[in-house]
Amino acid sequence: MGVAEEASLRRRGGAADRPVPDDLHARLKVFEGQPAVTGGTGKDPVNEPMIRHWCEAMGDENPAYQGPSAIAPPTMLQAWTMGGLSGHGRPGSGRSSAYDALFALLDEAGCTSVVATDCEQEYLRPLRPGERITFDAVIESVSPRKTTKLGTGYFVTTRMDVRADGDLAGTHRFRILKYAPATVPEPPATVPEPPATTPKQPADHPPPDPARTTPKAHRPRPVINRDNAGFWAGVAERKLLIQRCTDCATLRFPWLPGCNYCGGDGWDTIEAAGHGTVFSYVVMHHPPFPAFDPPYAVALIELAEGVRMVADMVGVPPEKVRIGMPVRLEFRIVEDDLVLPVFNGSQPPGPSTGSQRPDPSTESHP
Ligand SMILES: [Zn+2]
Repeated sequence: MGVAEEASLRRRGGAADRPVPDDLHARLKVFEGQPAVTGGTGKDPVNEPMIRHWCEAMGDENPAYQGPSAIAPPTMLQAWTMGGLSGHGRPGSGRSSAYDALFALLDEAGCTSVVATDCEQEYLRPLRPGERITFDAVIESVSPRKTTKLGTGYFVTTRMDVRADGDLAGTHRFRILKYAPATVPEPPATVPEPPATTPKQPADHPPPDPARTTPKAHRPRPVINRDNAGFWAGVAERKLLIQRCTDCATLRFPWLPGCNYCGGDGWDTIEAAGHGTVFSYVVMHHPPFPAFDPPYAVALIELAEGVRMVADMVGVPPEKVRIGMPVRLEFRIVEDDLVLPVFNGSQPPGPSTGSQRPDPSTESHP
């Protein structure tokens, strides 16, 4: 970094983009070559179930990863070193004090945010089921101070050497940017401040559930763009519109710019009749989101036309929702300017079922 560039960085100033002390890079460089991980051990040996799950997730059907002489996909290299949900700090992770000290130094300088930027791997030999994984990592380099759109900070590169039964099998080079955020995001205008009268909770009590102590928040709005604007225009007219490819007549949902079946980009729409069944569902309990009152059911509905869509379930308690349950479309006025298609799983009101009062906020589909 030249003197002029350095000076321009220092002139930025301001709380949002504060300059980092000049001598910091020299202090960070001291960590180059020091260990980041020493004597790490893989939680599991290389094994067929993890290989199979990886291949299924990636859609990789390469026969080299199947059968009695299978090898592991080389790109799984890092997977064999990962700590799982218990994360770093577990016995066997081998994380060094030097790595923690480097991060502490960056934190103290205001570079409290981190983003992974890139990864390079080199494969020296295949990994086979049954092999035991060990690894060491070194802090390879710390860049001079850089300013990106995210903020100002330092790129830290670590190189991990992965061994299988003691043989070097590959290297995994991982780069992160540890930075001081350029701007502090404003809290969204739609999320109200807690009332000033909220009593302080003793430190040993969990904080109050924000959904219960703050005024009702607004529901998130759909992101409407060129590709899906027609769908939301339909909702405004209380129609659930399904896209149809004008080349091969395949129906598609959610809305997309092209046909997944034939690649055609011409389309028109059909209006859903409003009947369907629950294909799958979840009942949301936690975490609590502002504007939602758990528990509530969100379902994947298979429409009579054959496409599926995700929507709120209404009309039945969440614990009564079942796969295969018949549902009918309604349009719910969630807020003044927000109407959403939802699906009602209750039996349609008829002469013998007078106990079910219609929800005044929904409009039944004709
Ligand atoms: Zn098509």
